[in-house]
Amino acid sequence: MSATLVDTLRTLVGAAQVLQGDGLDAYEVDWRKRYRGHALAVVRPADAAEVAAVVRACAAAGVAVVPQGGNTGLVGGGVPDGSGQQVLLSLTRLNRIREIDADNLTLTAEAGCVLQAVQQAADDRGLLFPLSLAAEGSCTIGGNLACNAGGTQVLRYGNARELCLGLEVVTPQGELWSGLSGLRKNNTGYDLRDLFVGSEGTLGIITAATLKLFPRPAATVTALAACDSVEAAVGLLNLARARLGPGLTGFELMQRFALSLVERHFPQLPKPLPEAPWTVLLELAGTDTEEAERERLAVLLELAMEQALVNDAVVAASIAQSHALWHLRESIPLAQSEEGLNIKHDIALPVSAIAGFVPRMAKRLQQATPGARIVCFGHLGDGNLHYNLQAPEGAVADEFLAAHEAHINELVYDEVLRLGGSFSAEHGIGALKRDELARRGSPVVLGMMRAIKAALDPAGLMNPGRVV
Ligand code: FAD
Repeated sequence: MSATLVDTLRTLVGAAQVLQGDGLDAYEVDWRKRYRGHALAVVRPADAAEVAAVVRACAAAGVAVVPQGGNTGLVGGGVPDGSGQQVLLSLTRLNRIREIDADNLTLTAEAGCVLQAVQQAADDRGLLFPLSLAAEGSCTIGGNLACNAGGTQVLRYGNARELCLGLEVVTPQGELWSGLSGLRKNNTGYDLRDLFVGSEGTLGIITAATLKLFPRPAATVTALAACDSVEAAVGLLNLARARLGPGLTGFELMQRFALSLVERHFPQLPKPLPEAPWTVLLELAGTDTEEAERERLAVLLELAMEQALVNDAVVAASIAQSHALWHLRESIPLAQSEEGLNIKHDIALPVSAIAGFVPRMAKRLQQATPGARIVCFGHLGDGNLHYNLQAPEGAVADEFLAAHEAHINELVYDEVLRLGGSFSAEHGIGALKRDELARRGSPVVLGMMRAIKAALDPAGLMNPGRVV
């Protein structure tokens, strides 16, 4: 049966686009190198019609399909299992920008478009597509929507879900749903778009999306501020929200150790501020001139210093300097990977709970696993922290993870849920947190999720083993 299916797939998309054998790590190993699978075949269709034909062929053969975009996901959701029986469906050849409607402020892109290419296409028309994250040079719009990605601009523009107006989807039976509406208002029954956004490839395959665009801000300016505590950083956030209003587009928190990993692994990067326990990156986007917006940010930071929220600060003097500050922040996950295997917690908390959570959790983890190194950074403005752990200096990372990961997760997630938070803020559930969701999710919610999955994918062939 498998050989017959592979032959059929070759007929459908061309033999050169059906890959088998060794050397497929780019598709079969996840970004963090924690999941290593083996596919029956990697199939690379060229358009939505070919995607539909591939899915129909797999459904007829009873073979599971794992959709994949840029393979930058962090929860093991986009690589096949080790059985050699799943088809990995790569969307990267669906990479056309189909339309930009400047009057309607919308852009329609195919699922395999790299996020940066979508940003650039909007920028070329003097418009803004604000979704932005460190993996933007390789992640795809389809993957962003499948994970409901967040990133650095959620504070002002919302996450991927809020930036999506319409979708085109191939169902698990291989039908094509064309829902590429650019309407802001459309109450015609259940919102299927919102069902597919965040479904992580378990309900169908996104082949294109209509996305919201915004007027491009006249000027965007960035600053770094040094704070003594998370409490002071939250105070700065409140002050910035009050003074800058919707102009505040980014507010990122970085703990000292997180930045020290960047210094260790990327020593060529600048070090704009002296060491501080916490560093905040603020971004202001406004309608005034760059000089005027820079002055606004400087005035805010002076006020924050008067109120003892900030000890030291630097405002980027040029766009190049702004990029350099963002580059520091975005290098943290890469520096962490260079440092070795680690435990990631992508958590959300009410902003009001974060200042208490951070020192309390650090104390508890030091008692449980002395020497474990906490790497804490993230989107403080959204209440989203990446609260990660690196093995103690000198320890063998995979042995440390094998011995302690489950207990550490238990401690962190217990506390997060006690505070009304979430154990998956923006990365999704994938394979990594599936059991956590099954164990901790509300039975009512899980029951509804399983009913939806069974209704849309009764054969269970769409990215099995993920989410539910
Ligand atoms: P993949 O990794 O290929 O897939 C992810 C999931 O989506 C899988 O379950 C896959 O099956 C499914 N999928 C992919 N394409 C489709 C499709 N067309 N239809 C249906 N299902 C599909 N995330 C954030 O939210 N915020 C961040 O700030 C952030 N920073 C990151 C920084 C780095 C350095 C890295 C490596 C990742 C980061 N991420 C972040 C993780 C983020 O989820 C991904 O980068 C991105 O959203 C996934 O896109 P992708 O195309 O790589 O998807």
